[in-house]
Amino acid sequence: MQKQTVALHAGYDKTIGNGEMSVPISQTTAYAFRDAEHAANLFALKELGSIYTRLTNPTTDVLESRYAQLEDGVAAIAVASGQSAIFYAVANVAQAGDNILISDKLYGGAVTLLTFTMKRFGIDAKVFCVESAGDLEEQIDDKTKAIFFESLSNPQIALADIEKIASVAKKHGVLTICDNTVASAVLCNPIQWGVDIVVHSTSKYTNGQGTAIGGIIIEREGMCEFFKANAKRYPFFTEPDASYHGLVYVDVPLPCFSLRIRLGLLRDLGAAQSPFNSWLLINTLETLDLRMQKHSDNALEIANFLEAHPKVLKVNYPALKSDDGYSRAQKYLKNGKASGLISFEVESYDEAKRIIDSAKLFSVVVNIGDSKSLIVHPASTTHSQMSEEELTVAGIKPTAVRLSIGLEDSIDLIADLSQAIGEQGI
Ligand SMILES: *Cc1c(COP(=O)(O)O)cnc(C)c1O
Repeated sequence: MQKQTVALHAGYDKTIGNGEMSVPISQTTAYAFRDAEHAANLFALKELGSIYTRLTNPTTDVLESRYAQLEDGVAAIAVASGQSAIFYAVANVAQAGDNILISDKLYGGAVTLLTFTMKRFGIDAKVFCVESAGDLEEQIDDKTKAIFFESLSNPQIALADIEKIASVAKKHGVLTICDNTVASAVLCNPIQWGVDIVVHSTSKYTNGQGTAIGGIIIEREGMCEFFKANAKRYPFFTEPDASYHGLVYVDVPLPCFSLRIRLGLLRDLGAAQSPFNSWLLINTLETLDLRMQKHSDNALEIANFLEAHPKVLKVNYPALKSDDGYSRAQKYLKNGKASGLISFEVESYDEAKRIIDSAKLFSVVVNIGDSKSLIVHPASTTHSQMSEEELTVAGIKPTAVRLSIGLEDSIDLIADLSQAIGEQGI
């Protein structure tokens, strides 16, 4: 099935229930068992079914199976936020004493989570260059449990060399986790390039209207074989889990990365997606493809306008021929379309702030992926918890402005930026 059809139909059987065309919201905490044996069978995984909404929910199931197919995966787990998706994906394989390798260009929340909070749990993060991946292999050791990166990074709009990262990881039997939030499942599918696990903040383009926070974790086919082949690095999957009466995950005929998140992490940490938010996301997913085309087309027009503007020193947008990521965009992004994020640099910190304050149609908001256009100054907001040195390493200049281009008519967006930046100059 083509992706646009998957987004509308996958994972929902309208012959069950009352034939509802809109996927019903199972706004329930728990589910009645037929009898005691049914309950026992569900807990023992002899039968699959709903027990408690912290673990599974029929509305969330539809979102999960739709998303798994959109990302060319076999299973997905929806969680309460993008941050919890990242945390669960890493915590599913790493424990105190281990390390992970993280991209030098990441969302600010991912940086603080992976370098500070994870460190308190004894998991160290080492940084590699995501665009070249030249320093990746030398940093892998016996304790490296995952390589985490963003396909298209927020806010630098740097495009990863996905295939290269995945091939280095494969050579050493290390799991790759790709945050595909900015590129979206319709413009890029990291699993096609060899990535094991994809995560999204569904709060962004998936939702598209700024009405719900959510996250999702998708696994590729064959993860049980991967864990069996790399059992020394990943004993959690091949050795009995004492917290689940000795269950061995690779022995269960289900996608085992997701299974362990559901049975262990959702059970114990509980960042479950609300069924209502799952329903919102099922609805917005229907138009994801259409929206991503428009976000990308609008953004390219605006990137061209900015590039020609004398007051703009540099524009970062991988669909521009002048961008460092242009050839990778042609390779990894569908039809070279590069989503709706642009960053551009101006002369000074004050000038960047002045432009933000002068924009009228663009709202000053730290979100991305909304249908309405947004503008922000990353160095003083989303990435303000990073030191000056960390900002430099991450390529976040104090003079950079980030735009999240919405679905308005580009004529109006360009007119607004034009008056905000001022003086066309020469
Ligand atoms: C927003 C964002 C996150 C965090 O997602 P939340 O849903 O806000 O928790 C993670 N990764 C990227 C790339 C993001 O843009």
